[in-house]
Amino acid sequence: MPLYLRRIVLAVPEHVQHAPRPALPTPHQRRTPRLRLLSRRQPVRRLRLGPHKLRRWWLARDQPGAMQSPSWEAFLFPNGTLEGCYMNTTLGLPCLQGNVPPIGVDARSAADVQAAVAFASKNNLKLVVKNTGHDYLGRSAGRGAFMLWTHHLKDRSFNKQFVPTGAPRTERKTYQAVTFGSGIQWGEAYEFVNQQGRFILGGISMGGTVGAAGGWILGAGHSTFAPTFGFGVDNVLEFKVVLADGKLATVNAFQNPDLWWALRGGGGGTFGVLISVTYQTHDIFPFAQSTLSATFDTPEIAQRVVTQFIKLQPTLADLGWGGFTFFTAAGIQINYVAPNYDSVKAQAAFSPFADFVTNATSGQMQVGYTEFGNFPDWFQVVFAGGPAQVGSPTEVTGRLLQRDMAENHADEVARALLSINDIVGAFSVAGGAASKPNPDAMALHPSWRKTVTNIQANVVWEDGAPASVVRQQIETLKRKTDILDRINTDSAAYLNEATRYEKDFKKSFWGSHYSRARSIKAKYDPQSLFIVPGGVGADEWDSEQRCRL
Ligand SMILES: Cc1cc2nc3c(=O)[nH]c(=O)nc-3n(C[C@H](O)[C@H](O)[C@H](O)COP(=O)(O)OP(=O)(O)OC[C@H]3O[C@@H](n4cnc5c(N)ncnc54)[C@H](O)[C@@H]3O)c2cc1C
Repeated sequence: MPLYLRRIVLAVPEHVQHAPRPALPTPHQRRTPRLRLLSRRQPVRRLRLGPHKLRRWWLARDQPGAMQSPSWEAFLFPNGTLEGCYMNTTLGLPCLQGNVPPIGVDARSAADVQAAVAFASKNNLKLVVKNTGHDYLGRSAGRGAFMLWTHHLKDRSFNKQFVPTGAPRTERKTYQAVTFGSGIQWGEAYEFVNQQGRFILGGISMGGTVGAAGGWILGAGHSTFAPTFGFGVDNVLEFKVVLADGKLATVNAFQNPDLWWALRGGGGGTFGVLISVTYQTHDIFPFAQSTLSATFDTPEIAQRVVTQFIKLQPTLADLGWGGFTFFTAAGIQINYVAPNYDSVKAQAAFSPFADFVTNATSGQMQVGYTEFGNFPDWFQVVFAGGPAQVGSPTEVTGRLLQRDMAENHADEVARALLSINDIVGAFSVAGGAASKPNPDAMALHPSWRKTVTNIQANVVWEDGAPASVVRQQIETLKRKTDILDRINTDSAAYLNEATRYEKDFKKSFWGSHYSRARSIKAKYDPQSLFIVPGGVGADEWDSEQRCRL
């Protein structure tokens, strides 16, 4: 089908519900009996909550039209108008379609996914794969698109003697492995793996909402436990994926090895639709948590402490410690986990830094050490029921902080980060075991293997804010990205925790791996059915991924 048809099929009107929509499947095309259309009469809508339910943001996870950052539900037109549908009904604003795909399929099986892919391909639709809608670049939304929702692919199984399909006799290593359907979220995954008496490395968020077998693994998959166990892409054993031609493929080190290279770090929604992912699991282990919070009375104190914290990054990563830290010029909050440490050993390792902070802040700090018998206990205490991390408009930007910069330029790094003049996140989710694999073994940006910390900044605005405010915040985000560019030499960023407004997303997200990823995409998706903003091949399309440039 000629690609220009995208333009015709998706000449989406201002208000989709009052105008013709992309054609729905005819009964003949909907031969697959289990195919559930998300909307035959009404466009897919996002969740709207009255004031009494505003805090119940987690309801959004079961809504096909809800994105975890509502900014991606709204659409910002080039002429400056903003169209959306806001969660807070008390704003009195109209509920319009915005960036939410008006139609789609609620897939319940691989056959459903195959039928939906065939339908989108045949009708030359702009296809969007949505799992949880967590994506910070809005890659699981799309104005006028056809949505393939994987949320209900909830199969899970445990195999004590998993061997990757097609492994030759000489390489028949067995793994205690778990296989998740692509709709499984990390909270569900942790519960299931814990029932098997095992540990799995996974994403960390309040309530365990991030998808365990979608964008997380396709982007890299970091965790506070990555310095001990490597990234998600280092723990995956096999994918099942529906390709653009509708075929269901098994992808691992022995089957479709080029796609195996590409899927590990090549990005979500780009090479096909994951049906399931198989991960190795690990023995359970005890660990210690170290927390520190301090306030800074002067910019000089902030500079001293943050410099010392940056210098500490390679040392802690080498010990297998991982954590999340937030700081401004007014103070710092640190939370680290130390696998296989008890609190005495953790204190011995952390106290030189804690003593430094005590002296620098004249004692305006608190430090604590807690022991946990296993991961679920910690996750329950820290992440089960805290404040929402999603549900309000936000966009993020980031840069990978590499070992050399932390070791030799900590002072400049701290100065740049404090000049952001807002909250900075330092996610110690790399280094240690995650720095060991060959940087060229997969599509993942090679700079990840010399990274110790993923540095993050963001902007927020109120639900229902006018376009002028949104535009202003986007400009602020671009300025923060420019400042972050001073902390590494190659603009490398985590493609899952970054911005759509990167100056050169190919360089930032894949570096020297981009051209190989692009050629593998050309082989498996020659018609570019799978195109997402900031994804491999996206620069060949307009900003809405509708028309080829
Ligand atoms: C609160 C929060 C916490 C986070 N914590 C972490 C963390 O600890 N570690 C980390 O590495 N990242 C983390 N992230 C970032 C996270 O990795 C990304 O948001 C990721 O894109 C989420 O993937 P998803 O499948 O859940 O979301 P979605 O938004 O549904 O999908 C993301 C992308 O993947 C594609 N995709 C989804 N499912 C499939 C599929 N089955 N097949 C093919 N493509 C698919 C989509 O098209 C889209 O491009 C966090 C994000 C949030 C909002």
